[in-house]
Amino acid sequence: MSTFSLDPGPDQIAVRDWLHGFAADVMRPAAAEWDEREETPWPVIQEAAKLGIYSLDFYAQQYFDPSGVGIPIAMEELFWGDAGIGLSIVGTTLAAVAVLANGTEEQIGTWAPQMFGTPDDVKVAAFCSSEPDAGSDVSALRTRAVYDEAKDEWVLNGTKTWATNGGIAAVHVVVATVDPALGARGQASFVVPPGTAGLSQGQKFKKHGIRASHTAEVVLDGVRVPGHCLLGGKEKLDERLARARERAAATANGDTKGVSGKGGSGKNAAMATFEASRPAVGAQAIGIARAAYEVALDYARTRVQFGRPIIDNQGVAFTLADMKTRIDASRLLVWRASWMAANQQPFTSAEGSMSKLYAGETAKWVTAQAMQILGGNGFTREYPVERMHRDSAIYSIFEGTSEIQRLVIARTISGMPIR
Ligand SMILES: Cc1cc2nc3c(=O)[nH]c(=O)nc-3n(C[C@H](O)[C@H](O)[C@H](O)COP(=O)(O)OP(=O)(O)OC[C@H]3O[C@@H](n4cnc5c(N)ncnc54)[C@H](O)[C@@H]3O)c2cc1C
Repeated sequence: MSTFSLDPGPDQIAVRDWLHGFAADVMRPAAAEWDEREETPWPVIQEAAKLGIYSLDFYAQQYFDPSGVGIPIAMEELFWGDAGIGLSIVGTTLAAVAVLANGTEEQIGTWAPQMFGTPDDVKVAAFCSSEPDAGSDVSALRTRAVYDEAKDEWVLNGTKTWATNGGIAAVHVVVATVDPALGARGQASFVVPPGTAGLSQGQKFKKHGIRASHTAEVVLDGVRVPGHCLLGGKEKLDERLARARERAAATANGDTKGVSGKGGSGKNAAMATFEASRPAVGAQAIGIARAAYEVALDYARTRVQFGRPIIDNQGVAFTLADMKTRIDASRLLVWRASWMAANQQPFTSAEGSMSKLYAGETAKWVTAQAMQILGGNGFTREYPVERMHRDSAIYSIFEGTSEIQRLVIARTISGMPIR
C-alpha cells in the first residue's frame, strides 16, 4: 500500500505540466469554437492522440499509479483547459473503466485498445447505462439481454439515453438486464463491437453546457453479440445470478440466515463503474472551478471601480477567499478517495461519493461567483466564465446526481435504508 501524500512526485509533476501545456496551448484556444459548434472536436482529439494524451497506455499508467493521484491530476488539468473538449477526450475512459472493473484479462486486452483506436485512426467509446425510465434508479433498466444458447450469442433490445459518445463510438458498453425479477442484481454489461448490426444512434441532444461533448440516445434493435462479449463471462454471471436467486428466495421466506454475503451487496455492474469513476469526475469539476477562480482573481485585481480595484472591497475579496478554500477542500476529498480506491481501501463513509458531491457543487458555486465578480463581462461570451458556469452544471447531475450522492453517503454512514 502506498502512503497517502499531498506531495506529487517528479513523474506526476511532469505529467501535470505536460497536460497543462496542452490545455493552455491547444484546448483553450479551441474552446469557444467547439462550444458554439456543439460537435465532437475530432481534430483536438487527434492532436491529443498524437501526443499520447489520448491513449490507453496513458490512462492505464495513471489509473494504476498506486499514489492514486495520477488520474485526478490529469483530469484537473484537462478540464482546466476546457470541460466540453475535456469530456470528448476522456469520455472513452468511462467505457474503459467498465471493462476494467467487470471484464476478464482477455476482454480487457481485446476491447480496451479498440476503444481508443490509433493516432492515425482515432476512435471513441461509449458507456450506456441510463434509459428514459432509469436514470438515478439504475435497478429499473428495461434493456433486455437474452442468451441464445444454440448460437452462443446474446440478443440485446432496448433504448439507452444520455450516452456520452453514443452512436459515434466504435465500442459501446451496454448494461442490460438478464433477469428482471432480480432488479439491479440481475444485470450484466456487454461489449457491442464496432459495426454490429442493430445498434443505431437516436436523438442527439442539444445541451446547456459541455456542448463539445456528444450526448445521444442509443437504440438496440435485436443486436446480437458473441457470448465472449459478456463482461466477466457466463460462468461468473450464472454464479452471481444463482446467489441472487438464493438470497431472494430466502428473503421471501423470511430467512436471511445462511445466505451468502457474497453477491448480496446489491451492487451491480453500472454501480461498480460509477463508484470507480466518481473521484475522477470530481477532479474534472475542480479543473473547471480552478479555471473560473483564476479568471475572477485576475479580473478583481485589475478592474477599477470607485477609484480602486474591486478586490479592495471585502465583499469581493472574501468571495475569492471562499472560492479558493472550497476548491482546495474539494481537491483534498478527491485525492483521498482516489488514493483509497488505488489502494483497495473500502469507501466505509462513501468517500468517493463525498468527493464527487462536494467538488461538483463547488464547481457550480465557484463559477457562479466568478460570473458575479466579472459583472456584465461575466455574462457575455467575450469572457470564458459563462461557458465554465454552463459546463459546471452537469457536475451535480451525471455520474449520480448530488441528491443520489447524499443518499449513498447517508445510507453508508447510518446503515439505514434511507429513501
Ligand atoms: C450530458 C450528459 C452526459 C451523460 N452521460 C452518460 C453516459 O455516458 N452514460 C450513461 O449511462 N448515462 C449518462 N448520463 C445520464 C446521467 O447519469 C443521468 O442523467 C443521471 O444519472 C440522472 O438521471 P435522470 O436524468 O434520469 O434524473 P432522475 O433520476 O429522473 O432525477 C431527477 C431528479 O430527481 C432527483 N431524485 C431522483 N431520485 C431521488 C431520490 N431517491 N432521492 C432524492 N432525489 C432523487 C434527482 O437527484 C434529480 O434531481 C449523462 C447525462 C447527461 C445530461
